[in-house]
Amino acid sequence: MNEVIFQYRDVPNMTDINVAREHGAYSAWKKSLDMQPDEITEIVKASGLRGRGGAGFPTGLKWTFMPKDDPRPSFLCCNADESEPGTFKDREIMLKLPHLLIEGIAIACRAIRAKKCFIYIRGEFVQPLLSIVAALKQAYAADLLGEKTGVDIEVYRGAGAYICGEETALMDSLQGDRGHPREKPPFPAQRGVWGMPTTVNNVETLASVGPIIANGAEWYRQWGTEKSAGTKIFCLSGHVNKPGNFELPLGTPLRDIIYGPGMGVRNNKKIKAVIPGGSSTQVLDESKLDTPMDYEGVMEAGSMLGSGGIIVMDEDTDMVKVTQRIAEFYAHESCGKCTPCLEGTWWISNILARINDGNGKKDDLDLILDLCDNIEGRSYCLLGDACAMPVRSLVQTFRSEFESKI
Ligand code: SF4
Repeated sequence: MNEVIFQYRDVPNMTDINVAREHGAYSAWKKSLDMQPDEITEIVKASGLRGRGGAGFPTGLKWTFMPKDDPRPSFLCCNADESEPGTFKDREIMLKLPHLLIEGIAIACRAIRAKKCFIYIRGEFVQPLLSIVAALKQAYAADLLGEKTGVDIEVYRGAGAYICGEETALMDSLQGDRGHPREKPPFPAQRGVWGMPTTVNNVETLASVGPIIANGAEWYRQWGTEKSAGTKIFCLSGHVNKPGNFELPLGTPLRDIIYGPGMGVRNNKKIKAVIPGGSSTQVLDESKLDTPMDYEGVMEAGSMLGSGGIIVMDEDTDMVKVTQRIAEFYAHESCGKCTPCLEGTWWISNILARINDGNGKKDDLDLILDLCDNIEGRSYCLLGDACAMPVRSLVQTFRSEFESKI
């Protein structure tokens, strides 16, 4: 058994609270009600759990940033606005295992002394939304939430903007404002939603909390590496025979994921490139297939683990078209608050379109790289970098393919 979250994914009716409780749901929540908030945080810290939304920040450490004696109310936000292309794990957790998420949220609320959590869910996720809402009703009816336990959970439906997955834009959107990133500092733990202390955690992160509290930090550390502990849900897509979500120990080699649960490349083609952590991460060519899929291993290979969205491209893939499609996505999703991202992503997307249309100019590739230089590190939030980083790596890795189109 290598699964923490997906352990009971295939059990029928895990959305029913009685079935979920037969498989241990809410036992960790009951246990944590007898624990002090700091005790819970220490276990999560010791487990080595890191944020699974993309940044990989240590979860327990993040919780310690919340004030302990602040008279203001504290909030938890569950970031369920999963929007990174190639990533589709959170929706499966919410759809099939809503009680695991609710339990993790309740425990996290107790750890950070929050009485309320908002689940900010992507608007298009209709079925996961219905699953979560139904599960919440059951949990309230069973007195697992509400007055008796001191934790309330409310669901808020986003309108489908990629930027609202960024924690400060998420909070603005939750408040009813336009989803724009805020300046940091102040960080959410000091000044979050409605100006109150707030922690934002991703769905996969929170769904890991219940099993960690139930079984202990050492149990969780049996998987993964020293710095990247535990398991990760990898979303495998692209030219593989069996796409899907697979939960595996962090550090599993990329090749083993593609040729193991992914059952190899369709029609036995060779692999040309892999995007390892969602479309905002740098591309890896086939020489990097033995990269261990943990935070440090992927960084050493020149990319990032990100959300764990692995997109496999076979030898026939047109990398110029791939680059254009990625750039178009980020240009479309740019919120328009800062010029490097607003203008730069639009220009990159347009230059790539003219190269693909056969109207590329001699200096276009250098112009694209220059635009990337002027976006990366100079944008207000990371969306600008999310466009510049993959575009730069695609142009540099497959430059001759781009040149042959010009
Ligand atoms: Fe908005 Fe700037 Fe962030 Fe792009 S980088 S999404 S324009 S704030």
